[in-house]
Amino acid sequence: MVAALAIAITHVTVIDGTGAPARAEQTVVIEGSRIRSVGDARIPKDAQVIDGTGKYLIPGLWDMHVHLLARPEKAFPKLLASGITGIRNMHLEAEDPLVTAVRLRREVASAAIEGPHIVTNGPMIDGPIPVWSAAVTAGDAASARRAALAMKKGGADFVKVYDFLPRDAYFALAAEARKLHLPLVGHVPIWVTAEEAARAGQRSVEHLSGIFESCTADGNVDRDMKRAANLWPISRQESAKQMHALLFHAAATYDPQICAPLYRLFAEKRTWQCPTLVALGEVREAGLRVVRQMHAAGVPLLAGTDAGGSANVEPGESLHRELELLVEAGLTPMEALQAATRNAAVFLGRKDIGTVEKGRLADVVLLDGNPLEDIRNTRRVAAVILRGRLIDAASSPQSSATPGAGTQPGPRR
Ligand SMILES: [Zn+2]
Repeated sequence: MVAALAIAITHVTVIDGTGAPARAEQTVVIEGSRIRSVGDARIPKDAQVIDGTGKYLIPGLWDMHVHLLARPEKAFPKLLASGITGIRNMHLEAEDPLVTAVRLRREVASAAIEGPHIVTNGPMIDGPIPVWSAAVTAGDAASARRAALAMKKGGADFVKVYDFLPRDAYFALAAEARKLHLPLVGHVPIWVTAEEAARAGQRSVEHLSGIFESCTADGNVDRDMKRAANLWPISRQESAKQMHALLFHAAATYDPQICAPLYRLFAEKRTWQCPTLVALGEVREAGLRVVRQMHAAGVPLLAGTDAGGSANVEPGESLHRELELLVEAGLTPMEALQAATRNAAVFLGRKDIGTVEKGRLADVVLLDGNPLEDIRNTRRVAAVILRGRLIDAASSPQSSATPGAGTQPGPRR
C-alpha cells in the first residue's frame, strides 16, 4: 500500500457530526490517516486539492448491524461506494466465524484489503437448538460462561445473544461478559423480558426485539409466545409460523402507555436501540411508531440494516434508506446522521471516529447535496476518504441486488 499523501478539501461546507450547525467555506486538511485541521486555510505544498465548492463533508457512516463477512469482496466495494466506512458485524455463518472475522478486521486495519473498519462478535450465542447453524449453543449457566470466555480469548469485540438462549444461561452470560469487559448485545431472548435485559446491562437491542411483546395490550401474548417457542424442538416451521403471527399481533396491539416506563429505563440505563427499520418488513409501520416514542423519551439510537441477514436489504443502499426511515420516525436529519456517525463512536467508546474534527481518523464522505435539507442527499456520494485514502468509488459497482444470498430469516421475522 502506498502511503497516503496530504489531501486538502477546499471551499466545502462541513457538517461535523457533533451537532454544530453546518459551516460553509471550510478547508479540511488530511495528513496520513488523520484529519489535520478543519477551517484552517493553510494547504500543505504536496497536498492533493479537492474543490469542495457546492459540496458537503460529513463523517464516514457506520452500519451498526450487518452480516457481510461471508463475501467481503462483494460487500466491501458497495459499502465504501455508499460512504460506509465502518461496520458492526453481528454474526457470520461460516465454519470458524470468529477466526474469519478477526482476520478480516486485521486485514482492513492494516489496509491489506480495502474495506470498512470492522467491529465484530464471534458466533452468536443461542439455545441448544440454534436458529443459525454457526451459532454457539448454551443450554445452561456453565456453558454460557464458557462461551463468553471463548469469545474474549478469540478476540471478539462483544458478544451477541439470540432468541432461544435460556434464562439462566442469559443471566450467567450477562454477568460473565461484564466481568470480562465484553459488551453484551443482540436480540432479547424469548425467555427474558426487555426490561430484564436492560437491567442485566445489555448494551444494545436489535430489530426492536422484545419490544412489541413487552408493550402489547393483550396480556396473553407472553404466554402464547413461550408456548410457540416450546414447539421449536418439535417443529421449527410451525414454531416460527406461530411466533411470526404473535409478533404481528403484538405489534398491532401496541400500547404506548405500557411501554413508557420501559423507554424511560432504556434512556436511564443507556440501553441502545438498533431498530433496523429497513429490515422490519410487515411490522415496519409499528416500528416507526416505536422509534418515534423512544426518541422522544431520550433512548439512544444506532443506525443498522441487517444487510446480509435479511432478504432484499442491499449492502450500502440500505443504510441510506434506514436514515430516511429514522427521519420518518421523527428524528431531525442531523439526528439521523448522528445515529450513523457520532452515536456509533459513543456506543463503541471510541474517540478516533464519528466526527469531522482535528485529530480524528480521516473517514469522511463528500456529498453533492445538503443532507440537513433532505436526508436523501446522503446518497449523493461524490467522494469517500477512508483512513486518509481517497477511495476510487467510480470503480465500485453501485448495485446488483443479491437478496440475502444463502441466508435464512430468524423465527421472529
Ligand atoms: Zn442481524
